[in-house]
Amino acid sequence: MATVVKRVRAGRPVFSVEFFPPRDAEDEQRLWQTIRDLEMLDPAFVSVTYGAGGSSRDRTIRTTGRVARETTLVAMAHLTAVDHSVAELRNVIGWYAAVGVRNILAVRGDPPGDPNGEWVPHPEGLSYADELVRLVRSLGDFCVGVAAFPYGHPRSSDVDTDTDYLVRKLRAGADFAIAQLFFEAEDFLRLRDRVAARGCDTLLLPGLMPLTTRRTLDKAVELSGATLPPSLADRLAPFADDPAAFRAAGIDIVTELGARLLAEGVPGLHFYTLNRAKATKEVVARLGLASTPMSPAA
Ligand code: FAD
Repeated sequence: MATVVKRVRAGRPVFSVEFFPPRDAEDEQRLWQTIRDLEMLDPAFVSVTYGAGGSSRDRTIRTTGRVARETTLVAMAHLTAVDHSVAELRNVIGWYAAVGVRNILAVRGDPPGDPNGEWVPHPEGLSYADELVRLVRSLGDFCVGVAAFPYGHPRSSDVDTDTDYLVRKLRAGADFAIAQLFFEAEDFLRLRDRVAARGCDTLLLPGLMPLTTRRTLDKAVELSGATLPPSLADRLAPFADDPAAFRAAGIDIVTELGARLLAEGVPGLHFYTLNRAKATKEVVARLGLASTPMSPAA
């Protein structure tokens, strides 16, 4: 079985990509164009996030199944514990296996409606991601990943406690972790050091998002749970009214971040693509991570 870990540990540095499930037929068509575009560059794996509602969840299963069956790519499905009993989670995991998906990112999920609200588990469900890791592991030969937070999870009291919980879920049987967005290489490297200091050497992959517009930058700030470092804000400020120059500077910033992480021995970079290929292709080409020669502007 081609697993995320085997693909990432295969030798040369790699990249991987994340999508969200398409909302409608038009979205689906666009996503498949993106998947086909990126397939040519041989990403190590592609992942599809798991939403809050039933239909979006069905679309995650359908999309990852189709990636597994109809492309040369290694598919990874996300799964959350939100609004699911353990019986339902078993069912979804069974569906993943049935459609050929053997890599699962086990995340707890956020409280529906208000991501910063109080987490209330399903009465017959799970409270934390480490329990979901154990459940997935108990149900078959899956390669399991978890989420990591360079600045600490937004609801954690402090980064050390959060790192203790991260190590706990890695030790519950996770094969790797993917980090939430961050802005400076040191932010990720400090997380890696904290995990290593606890005697844990599980694979950690940094997550990057090409900063192509003011909106993507705002999204990145929101997801990271941190504030934008002044050095980056100053670098982008002159281009507030010039979308092309903003995009060029944003791509430069993410390329430099990726280059620094690779120089520090990170085996792969995971890109949050927002279901678009172009910017990720540019960064991947500039970093020499594509298996197939290509032009950055393609
Ligand atoms: P957990 O590891 O369970 O942690 C949740 C909180 O509880 C943290 O504050 C942690 O420190 C604390 N904690 C952990 N274990 C314990 C314990 N045993 N006792 C007490 N406290 C504990 N969300 C989606 O809805 N769908 C997705 O597809 C999705 N994909 C993601 C992919 C990545 C790479 C990342 C980084 C995040 C993703 N998320 C997704 C968001 C994620 O679901 C939320 O950030 C969620 O709030 C935390 O999930 P977790 O798996 O880290 O939870």
